[in-house]
Amino acid sequence: MSEENPYSNASRRLENITGHLNGTGYKEWRTLSPSQTLAVCTNRERKWNGYGYKDTFFRFDDKGTASLLGNRFGHFSSKEYHELRPWLEQTLRINLKTICLAQPTIVEIHSPEVNHDFYDAIKPQGIIISFAEQDRLLHGHGVSTIEIYKLRYGNFNRLPDAVIWPESHEQVEIIVKAAQKFNVGCIPYGGGSNYVDALECPVEEEKRMIVSLDMRHMNRILSLNNENMSVTVEAGAIAKDLEIELRKLGYSLGWNAESIEFSTVGGLAALRSSGLRRSMYGDFENSIINMKFVTPIGTIKQSGHSISSPPIISGPDITNLLLGSEGTLGVITELTFKLHYLAPYRHYISMYFPSFHQGLLFLREIAQKKVVNNLSGARLVDETGLQLVHGFNTATPTVTTIFKEVLKKYYWKKFKGLETGKMCLAAILIDGYDLSKIENYEKRILNLGENFGGVNSGYDLGERMFFMSKGLPYLRDFLLDYYAISDYLDTSASWSNIEALVDKVKETIVTTCRAQNVRPRPYIAVRVDHLYETGVSLTFTYGFNCRNLADPLGTLRRVDQVALVEILRSNGSVSHFTTGIGKRKKESFVESLSEPAIEIMKNVKKTLDPTNIFCSQNLI
Ligand SMILES: Cc1cc2nc3c(=O)[nH]c(=O)nc-3n(C[C@H](O)[C@H](O)[C@H](O)COP(=O)(O)OP(=O)(O)OC[C@H]3O[C@@H](n4cnc5c(N)ncnc54)[C@H](O)[C@@H]3O)c2cc1C
Repeated sequence: MSEENPYSNASRRLENITGHLNGTGYKEWRTLSPSQTLAVCTNRERKWNGYGYKDTFFRFDDKGTASLLGNRFGHFSSKEYHELRPWLEQTLRINLKTICLAQPTIVEIHSPEVNHDFYDAIKPQGIIISFAEQDRLLHGHGVSTIEIYKLRYGNFNRLPDAVIWPESHEQVEIIVKAAQKFNVGCIPYGGGSNYVDALECPVEEEKRMIVSLDMRHMNRILSLNNENMSVTVEAGAIAKDLEIELRKLGYSLGWNAESIEFSTVGGLAALRSSGLRRSMYGDFENSIINMKFVTPIGTIKQSGHSISSPPIISGPDITNLLLGSEGTLGVITELTFKLHYLAPYRHYISMYFPSFHQGLLFLREIAQKKVVNNLSGARLVDETGLQLVHGFNTATPTVTTIFKEVLKKYYWKKFKGLETGKMCLAAILIDGYDLSKIENYEKRILNLGENFGGVNSGYDLGERMFFMSKGLPYLRDFLLDYYAISDYLDTSASWSNIEALVDKVKETIVTTCRAQNVRPRPYIAVRVDHLYETGVSLTFTYGFNCRNLADPLGTLRRVDQVALVEILRSNGSVSHFTTGIGKRKKESFVESLSEPAIEIMKNVKKTLDPTNIFCSQNLI
């Protein structure tokens, strides 16, 4: 048990590198502009080898109690999580004395491949470019478990050779033209928060210089139209920064992706994202009125129309082909969004149900019968997911609370049919403009829940359910220190198919783990994340102890692939918007498409990007 922040070594290394920037060697290429360390500044608050903020991490104190440090997450921060360690010891067999600390630095970073003609074409335009090792490393990955594992215990075969920070739409056009002319590969970079290995460089097949195009200097609000309730913004704006500015004016973007602190609006559009409030505000793509998209053959925009006009409903919508293109067709430089009035009130509701099945019936009723108008989000965890929710309990146990808990469990089991190990938990989030209406909705929801055997479990547990998806990546990284590796997979399923799909995927994960010598059996939980009239989106979270495995990453990859195949076989979708496709799901994505669809996509790529400048991955 160490008191030391496990990330401090890494920070020191970064500081050292920054300090050495004016040294010899690659000097000319490393220090091309006074602003060359801006990436370090942009990422100053973030870990270099883990998800999220440097000051936010789990640790065990001297007594072995887990706590979450930092102050980013309100009353979930700087709190002790008393139930977490016993649960982790039981399910993932972690042992506080058996530690697998991350390497302090990446051992070797290959020298950059430099295309001098390309450099000479963009340098005189005042475009910021860096060849510094730390910039290249920070831009060569996202935050998937595999990528974080490589940062902590391994290496990357290929990193971008340089990082460029365009500062305007015109500069992006210059860069893309030069890349086309001098045969350089480009990977647009937003906030680096993707989970599907989308930012990693292609390895063997790509010999050209590859540049990462960090969009975060393009973060200006270009116009805000109160009359039309729309805002036009550069694509590198971090979603949270934009939301903060809009809230000052009484507006909101609405959808609220859970990676909002780090994702850019361009990155969210490129992955066709959404957020936890989608039930009320719609998906990200429903908010987009217009965008500018730079491709090697020119800029695509809805010319002839005022940028803040309502969507153009005539003929095929080209924008829809570009949303979700994941940096493979061009660069989004500007977006126009519709705005929503900020709803000042927020309320969480939670209910225990005797089984996952009962919980699903309850949610289906809510989704299909539109029981309340202002439903923002809904969640449901199964019985194993509930154990994890309890692990995130921040209350300090006392003799009285333990006694009350025992009594409550006895009462629930005897009179309500709620049995530990079988019961599950649903949570509902309501946003609104009128407090009395929200209270009315709450009553309506609780009454409905009771029809399905539900028992009110309060505001706090509901809030915890929604907070957890923000906390889980921090827990994932922490557990790597104790030889526990974990990951998640998202999909969507129709109501009639959910339970069969869940059973099959869980069984497949267990069987694959057994065949891979994973002992003890893996932890697997499933969570409903979003409701539709026709079905839900689901997230499977799974993890296992990897101490005795020769190749933990290989095993994780195998489990991931086999589970994905099973998801498709069980009529689930290859992904839901929380991840996207990337390299991780490419094969399954192609498999899920019909031949004509594949042909269309190949032709779109050939037309827009004939020399494959945008080379991070070909979705087809
Ligand atoms: C804890 C956590 C919670 C998450 N929650 C959500 C959620 O609620 N909803 C959700 O949808 N996703 C979620 N994600 C996934 C992730 O945040 C999204 O995939 C997001 O879209 C990534 O945006 P980014 O700016 O970080 O893009 P990056 O990760 O930098 O890039 C992602 C891809 O988009 C491309 N790209 C980036 N910017 C541009 C651009 N301007 N033009 C063209 N291509 C570009 C890149 O080349 C890459 O292929 C979550 C991830 C984590 C780790």
